[in-house]
Amino acid sequence: MAIALYVCMKLVNIHESFPASGKAVLIGAGPGDVELLTLKAVRALGVADVVLIDDLVNREVLQFLKPGARVIEVGKRGWKGCRRRSTSQAFIERLMVRYATRGLCVARVKGGDPFVFGRGGEEAATLRAAGIPVEVVSGITAGIGVPASLGIPVTHRDFVHGATLITGHTRAGEAPNWRALAASGTTLVIYMGISNLESIVDGLRGAGMPASMPVAVIQDGTLATQRALVTTLGDAVEHVRGAALGSPAIVVVGEVSKFASSAATRRERRGSVQRAA
Ligand code: SAH
Repeated sequence: MAIALYVCMKLVNIHESFPASGKAVLIGAGPGDVELLTLKAVRALGVADVVLIDDLVNREVLQFLKPGARVIEVGKRGWKGCRRRSTSQAFIERLMVRYATRGLCVARVKGGDPFVFGRGGEEAATLRAAGIPVEVVSGITAGIGVPASLGIPVTHRDFVHGATLITGHTRAGEAPNWRALAASGTTLVIYMGISNLESIVDGLRGAGMPASMPVAVIQDGTLATQRALVTTLGDAVEHVRGAALGSPAIVVVGEVSKFASSAATRRERRGSVQRAA
């Protein structure tokens, strides 16, 4: 009896979790492979009336929308070489507030996790300030899911005691504290690092990190178009240029990058893994 009641309460909670009106849900869609969506994300997509979707999100997620849901593409690419105009953050936030105050359930779908380099924090604050209830559905962040798809564990107790997620695309004039990062003894997982790779390498080398430090660069991780390169800090710039790797890519700096070799056996399923080191 007690068990039946508990199950019943859980079911009620599940349904109450996403009332299909007057709210916003920030949904992380994971790094690319649609199978990396969470069950919660699928369920939240299924009740949304309006869906604002980022560039990096695999369009296969749209299969989970209810019929008639409105889809708005809000590309926010910021990397070099992308000619497409991006939608301003303020405009995106205004749209979400507008639809939610009309009583609609607005889903904001982002690549990876909405709170990891995803501006989810800013959006949640704006929505809450406008009196709109906000729910966050965490997703698998690229910095963990993409290396994992190659067999790279971002932490491994034989090599590192942690991992640091950083962006290689800082605002003008802001440089990361390379000395502190190099001394941290953690795996450095760098998002948006490909266009600034040269200055990242210079920063880490200048901070004393050895040229022999293994580096993995993975473009389009977890997708059929995935390409990856395993190299060293000293050779990374030349090898990445030579392989013509581009965004979106994750750069992993640390001993654990060597584990990428185990994924080479899965080439037929996921693009190629090139070993340049
Ligand atoms: N919120 C996202 C990150 C957004 S920032 C997350 O949690 O994953 C965008 C950056 O994420 C890209 O420039 C790239 O560095 C990384 N990225 C996202 N998807 C990726 C993918 N499939 N493969 C490699 N890098 C990816």
